[in-house]
Amino acid sequence: MKRILSAVLLAVTLFAAAPLPKPKLVVAIVIDQFRYDYLTRFRSEYAAGFDRLLTQGAVFTDADLQHFPTVTAIGHSTFLSGALPSISGIIGNDWYDRDEGRKVTSVSDSKTQLLGGVPAEGSSPRRMVVDTIGDELKMADAGKSHVIGVSLKDRAAILPSGHMADGAFWFDPKSGNFVSSTYYFTQLPGWVKDFDASHPADRYRGATWLTRKLPESGPKLYSAIDASPFGNEMVEALAERAMEAEQLGKHDATDVLTVSFSSNDYVGHQLGPDSPEVHEMAVRADRVLAKLFAAVDRQVGLDNALIVLTADHGVAPVPEVNAARRMPGGRMPLSLVTKTAQTALAARYGEGNWIVSGGEDSLYLNLALEAQKKLDPAQVNRTAADAIRALPHIFRVYTREDLIHGEALPDPITRRVENGYYARRGADIEMLLDPYWIFSAAGTTHGTAFDYDTHVPVIFMGRGIKPGRYYESITPNDIAPTLAAILDVETPAGSVGRVLSEIIQ
Ligand SMILES: [Zn+2]
Repeated sequence: MKRILSAVLLAVTLFAAAPLPKPKLVVAIVIDQFRYDYLTRFRSEYAAGFDRLLTQGAVFTDADLQHFPTVTAIGHSTFLSGALPSISGIIGNDWYDRDEGRKVTSVSDSKTQLLGGVPAEGSSPRRMVVDTIGDELKMADAGKSHVIGVSLKDRAAILPSGHMADGAFWFDPKSGNFVSSTYYFTQLPGWVKDFDASHPADRYRGATWLTRKLPESGPKLYSAIDASPFGNEMVEALAERAMEAEQLGKHDATDVLTVSFSSNDYVGHQLGPDSPEVHEMAVRADRVLAKLFAAVDRQVGLDNALIVLTADHGVAPVPEVNAARRMPGGRMPLSLVTKTAQTALAARYGEGNWIVSGGEDSLYLNLALEAQKKLDPAQVNRTAADAIRALPHIFRVYTREDLIHGEALPDPITRRVENGYYARRGADIEMLLDPYWIFSAAGTTHGTAFDYDTHVPVIFMGRGIKPGRYYESITPNDIAPTLAAILDVETPAGSVGRVLSEIIQ
C-alpha cells in the first residue's frame, strides 16, 4: 500500500514538474494604429477573431508604450525584442543619418536590392542593433525554427521577424506584387512568385466598401488598396500561403509567423478614430483575424499555437472633430517651428542654413556650420530650444544635452522621450505639442507620448495561457520576455520588460 502511494505521489510530482509541451507555432500579430478603446467601443460588433481573443485570451486593459515618438517602426521593433528605441537604435520611421549625410528609413539598406517588384534599393533589419524572439529561437536550435514576417509595410514585416528570419514580405504599390530583399535570399521563394502570379491586388479592381470604391486601373488601384479593408485581406491571404508553403508549425522546433495589418493605419490617418470607416475597419479586422485563426487551426490546431496581438501605436482625434465637441487640440504648421528656430539661430550666430533636417518631432542642426563658427553645440541647441518653446502650444522642448545628461523635468513624459533617444542617431532638438495638437495639415496622426497614442491592446491566447482580464499596468515591452519564458529561450538582448507570469498556466 505504502509503495503504491509513493509511486502515485512520484507520478503526481513528475506530472506537475513536467512543463507543458511548447507551442508548435507562435503567431505574432500587430494591428497598425489600433487604440485599446477600439476593443471596447466596438465590442458588441465583434463576433469572430476579436471575440475569440477577448473571451479565450489573457487581455491586458492597461498596456502603454513607454517611448516617444509612438510610430510604426518603433512599435514593431519593440514588439518581439522587448527593447526601447534608446537600446534598439530604431528611433523613428526615418531619421537623418549623420554618417550617410541623408535621411534614412528604419530598414533602408543600400547593400541590398528589392526582389520581385520594380527594381529599387532593398531593406533589411541591419539598423536594429538588438534581436527578436525569432532570433533567440534560431540561435537556440541552430536555425531549426522557421521565422517569417508579412505585412503591407517593409518595416512592419522586417523588424518583428528579426535578423535571422527566413524571409520578410511586404507590398510594393509600384508593381502590385509582394516583394522582399536580397538580404534574405537571391530569389523570391517559389510560393511568393506564385502568389504574385495570381495578381493578388487585381481581384479588388473597383471593389466597394461603405460609400467608397477602389480604382479600376492597376497602378491607381495598387496605391489606393492600402487604405482599404482589402489591404488586410491580401496580407492575411499571404500569411496563409506562408504557413502552408513553409510548413510552419510542422517542424521539430517552434516556428514564428509575424503578421502586421497596415490598412487600419492608412484609413485612420485619412479619416481619424471617430470616422465610420475606422469603425468598419475594426469590424472587418475581426473577420480577417478569424480567417487567420481558422488557417492556424487547420495547420497545427489552435491548441498547439500561441497567439499574441498588440498594436504599434494609437492615434489622435482629428483636431476639427475635437473642436466641435469643445475638446482641446489643433494643427501646428511644422514650417512655423523650423522657421522660428532658423531665425533665432541666424539672428544670434549669423546667416547660414542652420537646420539640416527636420521631422515632425525633431530637428537636426548644422554641426559643420557650428564647427566652422567655433560655437558650443550645447549653447546653439539651447538657443533653438528657447525660441521654439516661446511658440504657442509647444508642450516640451528637449535638447540633446537635456536627454543625454538627464537634465529635464523627471516625469513620465520625459522618461518616454529619454527612452526614445539613441545618442548616436538622435536629433539635437526634440519637440512635443500640447495634448491633441498635431503637426499634420490634414487628417490626423500619432507619435505623442500621450495616452491616445500609447495605450494599445496586448492579448495572449493559446497553449499555456490563463484566460481573463488583467488590470495591472504593463507595457508591450513585456511581450518578448514573456514569450522567451514560455518558449524556454534566452530573452532578447535589449529587452527591458518583465515576464507576465500571471497569465502563464
Ligand atoms: Zn503604425
